[in-house]
Amino acid sequence: MKNLFTKKQYDNLNRYLQSAKNATVIIHTNPDGDAAGASVALAYILEKLNINSKIVVSNDLPGFLRWIDANNKIIVYAKNKHEARSAIKTADLIFCLDFNSLSRVDILENIIRETTVPRILIDHHIDPDDDFDLKFSYYPVSSTSELVYRIGIKLLGTKKLPKNIAEALFCGMMTDSGAFSHSSSYPDFFKIIANLLDCGVEKDKITHLVYDNFTENRMKLLGYALSKMVVLHKYHAAYITLSRDDLKKFNFQAGDTEGFVNYPLSIKGIVLSLLLVEKDDHIKMSIRSQGNFDVNEMAHKHFHGGGHFNAAGGKMLCKYEYCETELEQIIKNYEKELCNA
Ligand code: 5GP
Ligand code: MN
Repeated sequence: MKNLFTKKQYDNLNRYLQSAKNATVIIHTNPDGDAAGASVALAYILEKLNINSKIVVSNDLPGFLRWIDANNKIIVYAKNKHEARSAIKTADLIFCLDFNSLSRVDILENIIRETTVPRILIDHHIDPDDDFDLKFSYYPVSSTSELVYRIGIKLLGTKKLPKNIAEALFCGMMTDSGAFSHSSSYPDFFKIIANLLDCGVEKDKITHLVYDNFTENRMKLLGYALSKMVVLHKYHAAYITLSRDDLKKFNFQAGDTEGFVNYPLSIKGIVLSLLLVEKDDHIKMSIRSQGNFDVNEMAHKHFHGGGHFNAAGGKMLCKYEYCETELEQIIKNYEKELCNA
């Protein structure tokens, strides 16, 4: 398997680990399958190295991911502020997983900035910030879970992982590759998946837990969202907007709109898809593309966000009633790239 990191990076990591007793693992707000899977696996690896570990996140996992945290390692700031704050303040080592900028952890950013202990980044987003003392950053891979796997087996000296940890990593690699449909076209990806299966992963069970675990309301919200979809044929683009009232009608629960943004891309000819969801003080954007259209650049330039080349997110700060007009204006800036796509 190709080595993604240098001996010097591993030497530095080992040095930090040798002097650590209590590590805290931070993952991004609105945690997804990759963030959840990677953090639970890393916490296990740290425990194996005799380092106490905790995981902190600003808001809760969606229901379809809760099974990953069977040992209740994850402390959610929104539910348990005191414990979350104390887990960060008392750590002697901080791991940052699946994000490239501290702004991605919302309320936790300031708490982390008040600490002086080393921060280690493990992540697969482009261009990480300089707020980290050691970076394991490599964007061409599927997921942070894949990086945690690679680093983990090196630290543990074995490819044999307990089944629950292998399943957490499998979940991260599966969800961040759109169930193996993108970001996974290289043999090492499937060699790792093969080893995870050797470790006992029940593939069909995990697929079922993640993809067949929605409420009736979520399914109906999806139907409603698709019926509202606007297709801009000329621009090979489509978008969906959902207001707070829309969400209320379908008894919205965290995670319910996860995956909605992918549907318009399955229309023949569509290369850009956007989902706009009204929140309390902003409009949350999810952006996806197919092929050569760079949504990381689009999110960075117009939506206070970022992400990957074909999958990014961000926000709009206008009022909900103006978001469609504003969005269409922004899409027009990309006429050259989109009309010829
Ligand atoms: P999603 O649309 O699933 O929320 O996010 C897709 C990708 O965009 C993820 O890789 C995530 O890291 C990134 N992303 C989502 N929201 C934001 C955001 O507000 N800021 C930045 N920088 N990246 C985001
Ligand atoms: Mn990820």
